[in-house]
Amino acid sequence: MKIVLLGAPGSGKGTLAQQISQDFALPQISTGDILRAEIKKGSECGKIADNLLSKGEIVPDDLIIKLLKQRLKNIDCANGYILDGFPRTLQQAKALSKITQIDFVFFLETPVKTIIARLETRRICEKCGRVHNLRLGSKDSCENCGGNLIQREDDKPDIVERRFEVFEKNISPLKEYYKPVMIYVESKDSIEQTYAPVKKVLEKKVEK
Ligand code: AMP
Repeated sequence: MKIVLLGAPGSGKGTLAQQISQDFALPQISTGDILRAEIKKGSECGKIADNLLSKGEIVPDDLIIKLLKQRLKNIDCANGYILDGFPRTLQQAKALSKITQIDFVFFLETPVKTIIARLETRRICEKCGRVHNLRLGSKDSCENCGGNLIQREDDKPDIVERRFEVFEKNISPLKEYYKPVMIYVESKDSIEQTYAPVKKVLEKKVEK
């Protein structure tokens, strides 16, 4: 099963992807995580990405498409995957359609004030990348691996503003492109509430 999750920064794509990944044994492919790993490694791609991520800009389509293609060749993707953060532009969506056929496209709808509150208190595990939120009682170490929780540089308010602008600019053509298949999901309260309708849809497909 191949799933795409769309939504603004902080709409909960990562958290939903973690949940689906656990229940349906599909890998979560976060292009943001792939880029952060390249930055850590200090690769050529990482150097280009570092500068753009720190400003809240997105990286060029050809660079991210190349990295995604590499990642999808991995054996863990053989039975499907969850794309969290890809595609972000119409060009990426078109490239994806040439790579594979997607089964489900979910769009997470979240009020801006919820997003701002989430991003202010979002913390990421330095070691395994798991997403936590201080509002939901997370402390300063990861519930998964015990690693340190840190705030992403691009979750700081001035960068968040730019990330929103970039999202707004790119999302309309994507919504149009996926119109016939897009499933809209409210993501404003708990993960359980967001996940319930998604789970239903996915279970139906698995039962077939
Ligand atoms: P995320 O972890 O999904 O919030 O992504 C963090 C940052 O990585 C974004 O703000 C972009 O700069 C970059 N990024 C992630 N995915 C993509 C993509 N599909 N296309 C371009 N840039 C991306």
